[in-house]
Amino acid sequence: MTRLIFLGPPGAGKGTQAQVLSGWLAVPHISTGAILRTAVSERTPLGQRVQDFMDRGDLVPDALILELVEERLAQADTQSGWVLDGFPRNLIQADQLEALLARIGQTCDCVLNLEVPDAVLVSRLLDRGRREGRSDDTDATIQRRLRVYQEQTAPLLAFYRDRQQLASVNGDAPIDAVTASLKAAIQARAAA
Ligand code: AMP
Repeated sequence: MTRLIFLGPPGAGKGTQAQVLSGWLAVPHISTGAILRTAVSERTPLGQRVQDFMDRGDLVPDALILELVEERLAQADTQSGWVLDGFPRNLIQADQLEALLARIGQTCDCVLNLEVPDAVLVSRLLDRGRREGRSDDTDATIQRRLRVYQEQTAPLLAFYRDRQQLASVNGDAPIDAVTASLKAAIQARAAA
């Protein structure tokens, strides 16, 4: 169990938990959002292309993301595994990931979904916006990101459920409790 995908709405705790589990499994944490935010802050050509999409709370074009993930999964440190956080984000990306993994002879072991009620998400995101100054954690953008999640990302739950890869965990609990549930879900699948 060293190749994991994290699903869940913005504010569900994907980044926090993906970080912890990547440490536990000793494999890289790959957050497409973090890679894009670095590109924006360094004003690279990629950053300049994606900034407006991110500020609006929209997904950036699939081709850009796929290229970025493909490059990352070609690097030596990802050969023993990875924790993907924020990708795939729609059905096109999920199909593209499947094709990419087939090409490089890898498979995803498990897709973890964090379930958190909308009201909790909004208050967590507003808190994070105040704490970290993230420019997409503002009221209007949060609403937009939640809608984009429902419309484009939530269909991935059925996609991965059909493939028997999905494990859902309650994300509305203290960080350590969520980590424990995630580890239990991973171990249960590994033993199955
Ligand atoms: P995140 O940190 O995962 O919440 O991502 C922040 C923002 O980066 C999103 O609102 C999107 O604008 C963009 N983004 C991150 N990952 C993806 C992806 N897989 N596909 C498209 N856009 C993405």
